[in-house]
Amino acid sequence: MKLASFTRNGGVEIGVVEGGQIVPLDAAASMMELIARWPAAQGAVRAAAQDGPRIALGSVRLLPPIPRPGKILAIGLNYADHIREMGHEMPTRQVWFSKPATAANGPYDPIRLPRVSSAVDYEAELVAVIGQGGRNIPKERVADSVFGYCCGNDVTARDWQRATSQWMLGKGFDSHAPFGPWITTADEVGDPHALGVRSFVNGEKRQDSNTCHFVFDVWEQIAHVSEVMTLEPGDLIFTGTPGGVGMGFEPPKYLAPGDIVRVEIDKLGALEARCQEEE
Ligand code: ZN
Repeated sequence: MKLASFTRNGGVEIGVVEGGQIVPLDAAASMMELIARWPAAQGAVRAAAQDGPRIALGSVRLLPPIPRPGKILAIGLNYADHIREMGHEMPTRQVWFSKPATAANGPYDPIRLPRVSSAVDYEAELVAVIGQGGRNIPKERVADSVFGYCCGNDVTARDWQRATSQWMLGKGFDSHAPFGPWITTADEVGDPHALGVRSFVNGEKRQDSNTCHFVFDVWEQIAHVSEVMTLEPGDLIFTGTPGGVGMGFEPPKYLAPGDIVRVEIDKLGALEARCQEEE
């Protein structure tokens, strides 16, 4: 099933996406609430998806599937070719950072290029959405802790990222965590380690890899971070980007105003955003 957050009259609604249409669900619930009570709610949602009134997907504006995520966690250096292009050694330990909730951005909303950076880059990434979560999730339960998956773009201001040893500010600008276009539930995705991941800038293919090339797979990632913090419904895990980011080119190909950035992942749809100079 594909679940989206959207707006048509100003309010935030959630719905089930089917082809080019969307079936709005009970307007009182947020996506985060729906994920938290999914085991009890999914039967009613599936029934509503079959029988409910539909509206054209093109008549609504899709929002970030979780408009204000509790956590946006991201692993760095998780594909061998990207590690090489960044000039790093292969990590023996997982490298994590977080992006603030205010970085969340809708799937087709503009990516803002801040005045204080001249090196904004894209990173196409599979995003795992936590379902029931918990702390110290054991290996044998970790697959059950994922509610679903979506596409993500870990937009990064390279000049800010490289200025300090901590990456948080370079990764944390407003609008620099587009994700969506909707959440595809885990049962519909199957193995998350067999998905093609691609990015394009103005139609030119920049990244083209597969999640089978992860250094640390999704299960290792979630098991590891849950040793530190309690994962909660709707938390996001950005799982790393493959080679082909703008910084890897000589000279670098950073994002410019008017550029169209597309991120697509097998089974999960695509994000497409125009880059816009910050006012
Ligand atoms: Zn990343």
